[in-house]
Amino acid sequence: MELMKAAILRSPHVVEYAEVPRPQMTDPGDVILKVEKTAICGTDLHPYEGRIEIEDDVILGHEFLGTVVEVGSAVGQFTVGDRAVASCVVNCGHCFSCRKGDPARCIGSRIFGLGIALGGLDGGQAEYVVVPNADLSMRKIPTIGAGTDDDHLFTGDIMTTGYEAVRRVFTPGDTVAVVGAGPVGLCAAMSAVALGAAQVVVVDKVAARLKEAEAIGAIGVNADEGDPQDAVYDLTDWRGADIVIDAVGHESALLSACRLARAGGHISIPGVYLEESINLPFGELWLKGISITGGVANIVNYMDEVTALVNVGKLNPSRLISHRMGLSEVTQAYKMFHNHEATKIVLDPGK
Ligand SMILES: [Zn+2]
Ligand SMILES: [Zn+2]
Repeated sequence: MELMKAAILRSPHVVEYAEVPRPQMTDPGDVILKVEKTAICGTDLHPYEGRIEIEDDVILGHEFLGTVVEVGSAVGQFTVGDRAVASCVVNCGHCFSCRKGDPARCIGSRIFGLGIALGGLDGGQAEYVVVPNADLSMRKIPTIGAGTDDDHLFTGDIMTTGYEAVRRVFTPGDTVAVVGAGPVGLCAAMSAVALGAAQVVVVDKVAARLKEAEAIGAIGVNADEGDPQDAVYDLTDWRGADIVIDAVGHESALLSACRLARAGGHISIPGVYLEESINLPFGELWLKGISITGGVANIVNYMDEVTALVNVGKLNPSRLISHRMGLSEVTQAYKMFHNHEATKIVLDPGK
């Protein structure tokens, strides 16, 4: 049996760089990628910190790109040697929602590296990974253009998650407020700028994150130094923002979003909510006629748009990378990410 190295979550807070069997294809729609770059995502912290229940010994990771080394007999879009990036979510392509063009609601959705409950796919923080339904779930990395591998790496998850959160409710000229300047929030702000927002406001409490938001072209508002509602109302003739993005996934962020949105506006939620219920000012939301949209990101529907914008240099998510480490240092990498010592860590499986 051939072996490979991978990041294994033994139990909450215990990630090991360990040797495991190299994965095999089980379906004619599969390809095997030799992983060249893989990143740690905020979502990886849900199993790491024990917030979602997951079986022991899962190979983590759902942001990765690499070179195709094996191709199933039913795959038409890829051949051995192609370089490609995978969507973090794999959809079936055939169910009611997939047929309706809404694969994020696919009843057969599977996410890499998050255990049996989310489809049981081994993750990409490894030397090799199987990508099912490759024709639907993967995109070739363009061989020419402004986008680097580090930019394209994020089209499979955070860049497209942030983009979709804006794009699904966006009208050119909108004022977009983003609550939370983590990687997805900054990707949403970058997308709003690229799509033609009149103004983009980013609300956070960490000065370094707000500085990055301003470098992207947004207006940074420090929630510790003043009321973000005043700042947003000042910028919008006292109406509020057309779109508010909750890129945090916490009740306090959603409450803030409710206050920042104008009457008739939209709250779009790429932040992850796992709780059964939360408190919302429902009467105010109803009176203001605010629409709320959320759910698992519709990656495959928007990857082509995002790849095109990355490739002409309008979206450059690689600027969010704070650390580059070898996969062999993955234990340390998770500790740093968990302790908020890194914005975005890219791991090299060859090191
Ligand atoms: Zn993710
Ligand atoms: Zn489906």
